[in-house]
Amino acid sequence: MRVLTVVGNRPQFIKAAAVSGRLRVEHEEVLVHTGQHHDDRLSRVFFSELGLPAPDRQLAIAGGSNTSQLARMLAALEPLIAELDPQAALVYGDTNSTLAGALAAAQARVPLVHVEAGMRSFDRAMPEELNRVLADHASELLLCSSEIAAQNLRAESAAGRVEVVGDVMVDVALRWQPAARRLRSAPAAHGLSAGSYLLLTAHRAGNVDPPERLLALVELVERLPDPVLFPVHPRTRARLERASLWGRLARARQIHLAPPLGYVEFAALLCHARAVLTDSGGVQKEAYLAGVPCVTLRAATEWVETVRSGWNTLVDLDPDAALAALASPLPRERPEWYGDGHAAERCVSAIRSLLPAHAHAP
Ligand code: UDP
Repeated sequence: MRVLTVVGNRPQFIKAAAVSGRLRVEHEEVLVHTGQHHDDRLSRVFFSELGLPAPDRQLAIAGGSNTSQLARMLAALEPLIAELDPQAALVYGDTNSTLAGALAAAQARVPLVHVEAGMRSFDRAMPEELNRVLADHASELLLCSSEIAAQNLRAESAAGRVEVVGDVMVDVALRWQPAARRLRSAPAAHGLSAGSYLLLTAHRAGNVDPPERLLALVELVERLPDPVLFPVHPRTRARLERASLWGRLARARQIHLAPPLGYVEFAALLCHARAVLTDSGGVQKEAYLAGVPCVTLRAATEWVETVRSGWNTLVDLDPDAALAALASPLPRERPEWYGDGHAAERCVSAIRSLLPAHAHAP
């Protein structure tokens, strides 16, 4: 079966790295990179480091508003689907590339598979929430990271077949975290010592686009009690510079600014951090897996299990709440909410079920 996979940004390269190799054992995969993340440090590094096959097609579509980016992606994907005639399309997560791949496939009546289906923040102001809801309702096969995601889809009466397979990003994290943990020199390379610094990431539009939220983020960072390592996403850097806040942040007493890091270095820095502060979905999950407490700079999360088990605290941009969360004791239990590291295998067997019945015979 020919499977058209559409990816475009950092977390999707990581998710596809878990699935692509296994998928290609049984099927022909055509990997399309939309170009949504084109910066080498958000794109190329993940292909080389995690062994993701090079893209077969590059659409080079980046920038512009969400709507115009989506429109350009759809216009490029329609003829590509007509040319390649895939028997299935595969999309991951919740970005513009996810929605473009989903809509283009559904319009062409190509059966759509959505990996990481059913995640909900119930905050429709987030562009990601709209993308994931729409992609889910266009999908034939909905592959979920957790039971709660499957419940969300049932509650919405999603038409596709729902399967809980576990989380493919967890497959990658479980594979790399042991090596990352052994990289004890990683903090020293940034002038930090293991166990005594905070790792920060922030790039959600809701936190960095409105100038007053960006200022609140900088003020929060200034009040943090420990050294802070902040690998800055290009979007965040651009917003900080535009708001003339970059210099102020760089002068904060305990801040260590860095460019976006490769997967393994970032994983090492996460494993050795005292705690993580983030607005990233993937980083919340990885902190949980590593047993590092997480302070989430949002008012809601899709990864509700991490909050319920006490490892993650939602503080939005409230510095007092962040300081209180950083001072609270660690919970004892860390249940395996997101699978056992074999989600990609389950994805591939679920995708096999899309084949016509006669094609299953050996
Ligand atoms: N990540 C990375 N380098 C960094 C920051 C993050 O490799 O400097 C990885 C992180 O380990 C996680 C993923 O990028 O696997 C999360 O991506 P992002 O925060 O961009 O997206 P989200 O998960 O919020 O959709």
